[in-house]
Amino acid sequence: MRRCIFCDQSASLTKEHIWASWVRKFIPRDPTAPKRALHTTGLTLIDEDGRYQSTMNLRGKLARSGEMLDRKLQVVCGHCNGGWMSRLQKRAKPYLVPRIQSNWAQPLDESGQRAIAAWATMFAMVVEQADPDTIAISQRDRTALMLGSEPLPGWLIFLGRNRGVPGKFYHLTAAIGDDGLKAMNTHVTTFTVGGVLLQTMSSQVNYYETSGFSKTGTEQYADKLGLCRLWPPLSSRVGMPTRVWSDQDFVLLGSIMERAGLFGKGPSGLHQAIASGQFDPTYTGYRR
Ligand SMILES: [Zn+2]
Repeated sequence: MRRCIFCDQSASLTKEHIWASWVRKFIPRDPTAPKRALHTTGLTLIDEDGRYQSTMNLRGKLARSGEMLDRKLQVVCGHCNGGWMSRLQKRAKPYLVPRIQSNWAQPLDESGQRAIAAWATMFAMVVEQADPDTIAISQRDRTALMLGSEPLPGWLIFLGRNRGVPGKFYHLTAAIGDDGLKAMNTHVTTFTVGGVLLQTMSSQVNYYETSGFSKTGTEQYADKLGLCRLWPPLSSRVGMPTRVWSDQDFVLLGSIMERAGLFGKGPSGLHQAIASGQFDPTYTGYRR
């Protein structure tokens, strides 16, 4: 019997939508959308001469007929799903629904920011399970979210606006450390939910926070990219993010940390899933 990714108990796991049913209800379907979800996974190793060695799998677990918004994963138990996860969904719903529908009239207060940030943390933890090779979030963090239902120390979460495909994600990971680590320990997970774009990032490497990762937590990062920082909290009222992200720019945003050189040299992984064929799947941010 497999274990639930949150409570770590052996249990029968329930198959759940990655984008919850209530979310999908508020996202209009595009009748012209391609009828097959695209899910790409890959691993890259940079050797001592700076050469890239890459593998690319164009048919990840979620690549099947039907839209990405309808994809499911079987990684959590019924107890978690029907309990704390359901309560977290309900808490975020009133704040997310208008924004999913591109209505930004009402600024987000502190409890709204926390609710969306905790919800985005949960989303990132579930969606990264779609590719076991690039899982980068620790069990400790998953347990902490389950117990507290609040965003976690060390995480950075940004809110933006999306006008592209309403359900897609880009999960970029790295194995950072001096000891030839193979397991991923650092991630940037960017995803869309209707008119909302969310970007979450965290690292299990403690010293990494002082060596660069936390620099992205500054207001400048958000300002430059037209995002609003939700976590750690910056303002008691968060209004409408200034920039609207297209699909093409989404790939750039998803790989921005890697492009900025903050992932350093070492194994890295990428994991992207998109609902349409409008991206060139080989355009991953690794080509310079
Ligand atoms: Zn569980």
